[in-house]
Amino acid sequence: ARVRLNSFELGRPFFGVQIAELPDPHVATPEAQALVAHVRTLAEQHAELQQGKLTPEVLELVRAAEDPGQLADLLATQLVTEMPDRQHLLEELEPIKRLESVAIRLLGEIDMLTLEQKIKDRVREQIDKNQREYYLRERLKAIHDELGGEGGNEIEQLREKVRAKGLGPDIEERLLKEVTRLERMPTISAEATVVRNYLDWALGLPWHVRSEDSLDLDVAEEVLNEDHYGLDQVKDRIIEFLAVRKLTSEREGGRPNATILCLAGPPGVGKTSLGRSVAESMGRKFVRISLGGVRDEAEIRGHRRTYIGAFPGRILQAMKTAGTQNPVLLLDEIDKLSSDQRGDPSSALLEVLDPEQNHAFVDHYLDLPYDLSDVLFICTANQIAPIPRPLRDRMEIVEIGGYTEDEKVEIARRYLLPKQLEAHGLTAEQLEIPDKLLIEIIRGYTREAGVRNLERQIAAVCRKVAREYVKGKRAGKQRLTAARLEEYLGPRRFGYDEQISGQHVGVAIGLGWTEVGGELIPVEVATMPGHGQLTITGQAGDVMQESARAALSYARSRAEALDIAPNFQEKIDLHIHLPEGATPKDGPSAGITMATALISALTKRPVRHDVAMTGEITLRGRVLPIGGLKEKTLAAHRAGIRRLVAPAENRRDLPTFPKNIQKEMEFIWVSSMDEVIAQVLVQSEDKVLPPLPMAVPAPNPLALPEVAGEAHGS
Ligand code: ADP
Repeated sequence: ARVRLNSFELGRPFFGVQIAELPDPHVATPEAQALVAHVRTLAEQHAELQQGKLTPEVLELVRAAEDPGQLADLLATQLVTEMPDRQHLLEELEPIKRLESVAIRLLGEIDMLTLEQKIKDRVREQIDKNQREYYLRERLKAIHDELGGEGGNEIEQLREKVRAKGLGPDIEERLLKEVTRLERMPTISAEATVVRNYLDWALGLPWHVRSEDSLDLDVAEEVLNEDHYGLDQVKDRIIEFLAVRKLTSEREGGRPNATILCLAGPPGVGKTSLGRSVAESMGRKFVRISLGGVRDEAEIRGHRRTYIGAFPGRILQAMKTAGTQNPVLLLDEIDKLSSDQRGDPSSALLEVLDPEQNHAFVDHYLDLPYDLSDVLFICTANQIAPIPRPLRDRMEIVEIGGYTEDEKVEIARRYLLPKQLEAHGLTAEQLEIPDKLLIEIIRGYTREAGVRNLERQIAAVCRKVAREYVKGKRAGKQRLTAARLEEYLGPRRFGYDEQISGQHVGVAIGLGWTEVGGELIPVEVATMPGHGQLTITGQAGDVMQESARAALSYARSRAEALDIAPNFQEKIDLHIHLPEGATPKDGPSAGITMATALISALTKRPVRHDVAMTGEITLRGRVLPIGGLKEKTLAAHRAGIRRLVAPAENRRDLPTFPKNIQKEMEFIWVSSMDEVIAQVLVQSEDKVLPPLPMAVPAPNPLALPEVAGEAHGS
């Protein structure tokens, strides 16, 4: 019982005292009951959290206790160990207050215990996880070992490889991260394959691998001459370009001149092979990137790695092929780039070519800065106009016009034939092609500004001859004959171009300039009863159609002077046709040709056909200069025509023409349509120009029909 000491009665042999008992007052309020119930629950919780402190017997008593004072005393004896606290509780006479104190203490202890438990749990979890991973990794290693020891080492090997590349800290760290990612993935998952491919790619690129540059201009000149006939101006320009590059890369700071060489000209004139020679003369690797038809930015700059099947763009692919960081990259057919909604490849290319940016070129796939500043870029194009302006501004354009027949013969004899003989395992004795037959191949089986088809035809001959040798049909030396040439290549494919002898009404020979070089474009005009309709057929483009209308308007406005029936358009329809309807043609330079054919058809005065013509026409009959006269002249020359009507202002182009062309061609420079008519329309017998000797005493397999003549029976 709880008592209070009132007085001491005895001293010996022990203390005797007077006491007064202090019984707990009886409390049975609802509040007291609620408190008792609450403390009971707390006691249960406590027992659960800290086993062993409250024994099951004590818990029994707790569960049975009704009286708050008793419950408080019971728990205090079990839980409270510190003397002052015990004394404090003992002295508390108010049972409710005493139980409250115990409750507070219980709550505090429960909080502490829960926290402890939480920490314990967490620690255990961590240990479990680490152990599990350790265990699994050990298992995996064991499996790899069983499978042949490969994969287990793969990760370490990759790490080694990354470190060995000397990539610089940033890039190395990024790649090592990828390796760690790979390590965490199941070896044969699709994702792991993606990461592995990526690492393969990144490690396959040349980083800091360079070939030794040897920029000796004499050597460069030698190499260029060795592989290419003629092209003196082009070679000079290339040598100058290399000289500037050498000087600028040797100065302080070492950044070479930023202009990019662009070789422009028709197919087969040697652009690619000049590029290859430049690489060879500098001792650099050479890789060609074809840009024809590239319309997607991603083809230059790669696809992001998030796409399945993503791969790097063509630039990095080429770098991988090159295997060095300073190759010559030939960007072929840069004029054939196009752009659509998938982004503009030319702007990506601009970044590639810009020395301010290309030392840290970022491909979407690789996603790491890659240094392109040591690459020597050379572009090629068939035409200059379609090259996007900003790109063109970066370029030094060197035009290659096309070859004359003589040059082609030289190229064939010195380069193409030996090359093809070698490629087909033949010796020079086994197949000799005399010049006469080379000319025959050029005239009868090719029609081009370059020499690509010529090379192909020579290859075809070599093939046939090789076959005969192997079959034993032939032995010893062979000199090709005309008969055998026809047997090998079939009947000749081209006459000596569109026929050019005689005189025809309503037909004039114009000259066009396409990306494959110059071409003859005959224009035919037929008149028929009608009401002044003008029809144009043969795939004439918009500009050409307009130029036909201008020619017609000119003819009408000059009807009287030209002796054309006034109001002729009330009675007849006109049809202008450009044969070879399958080839699209455009441009203003057929103006004077169409006007000539029209006037010829209307006046019935025939056109001389040993003359070709080119020039733009205005409504008042002025003749304006045109582009590509050199290519056009070469085409006319190829076709055996030796007289050309051309705009007077184009006379300035003449000095750039090959010497033999200047000598052999007769140019009639005109500035008005009246002069054209005076020169090419036959007036009467006495005014006809003296006939020129034709270059080719040609049979006439492709003679033009006399269109206008037939229609009117003249
Ligand atoms: P392009 O790139 O201009 O279309 P290529 O460089 O592919 O032309 O040339 C086609 C072929 O013609 C190649 O075999 C090339 O060696 C040859 N060729 C072109 N021009 C010459 C030349 N002037 N001398 C020797 N071979 C030439």
